Amino acid sequence: MSDLTGRRALVTGGAGGIGAAIARELAGRGALVTVADIDEPAAKELADEIDGEAWAVDLTDVAALAELTLEVDVLVNNAGFQHVSAIEEFDPVVLHRMLMLMVEAPFLLVRAALPYMYARGRGRIVNISSVHGLRASPNKAAYVTCKHALEGLSKATALEGAAHGVTSNCVNPGYVRTPLVDAQITAQARSNDIAEAEVLDEVLLAGTPIKRLVEPEEVASLVGHLASDDAAMITGSSSTIDGGWTAR
Ligand code: NAD
Repeated sequence: MSDLTGRRALVTGGAGGIGAAIARELAGRGALVTVADIDEPAAKELADEIDGEAWAVDLTDVAALAELTLEVDVLVNNAGFQHVSAIEEFDPVVLHRMLMLMVEAPFLLVRAALPYMYARGRGRIVNISSVHGLRASPNKAAYVTCKHALEGLSKATALEGAAHGVTSNCVNPGYVRTPLVDAQITAQARSNDIAEAEVLDEVLLAGTPIKRLVEPEEVASLVGHLASDDAAMITGSSSTIDGGWTAR
């Protein structure tokens, strides 16, 4: 696989979880990958591993992104986090942080990348959404709100970018084996008053026909395809990778 040789890619939240798998996938396809992450040591370590570059950045600092220009052929908006709480108890500070990281930052990074992509007549934007970009679940109101907003951004970008060879798509995983999910298992056990071991079968995978977590590499493989020239006619789409959860 070397279809992205000579291309530059940026992966937000690229130092951990799904983002690290995506960074490795794109580097494996030949791209020069910038790992953008708040975790500087982890970003540098991965950048060294894949012969890429590290960008230590707190993407909730959206004011710093307003004047940014990005020279990348592939932009992957991946950074995000979950917070489980009923709406009436939801901490407004957490809501604001989520909106900045998962809506405002992707918008501003797309804005920063499009002029370079338009000048070259090609570009790939992949937004890591979620099944929660398409469906809602209780106690995840802010996350569901942010992911639905990301879906809107992705489709609007697809319409504007079409005449310039730029595609924009969402990838919609179910539960993926990452630290984000590990943290949820603890929180779900507490809010459902069950043991952590029961959370996987009885809560997380209760509605999933294929009874296992998605692997980060499986999400990365789909992103690699969407970033490739083969995916030139795929735009404005939302690709589920959820073991059938959204089939119901
Ligand atoms: P993760 O917590 O494992 O990794 C997130 C990465 O983002 C980390 O490297 C972290 O340092 C970085 N990050 C966090 N805050 C940041 C900030 N302010 N600025 C820059 N970087 C920051 O999470 P993950 O599970 O790999 O999730 C990645 C994306 O996939 C998220 O958008 C998430 O919503 C989505 N997703 C995850 C799952 C899942 O089951 N894990 C399912 C569907 C969608």
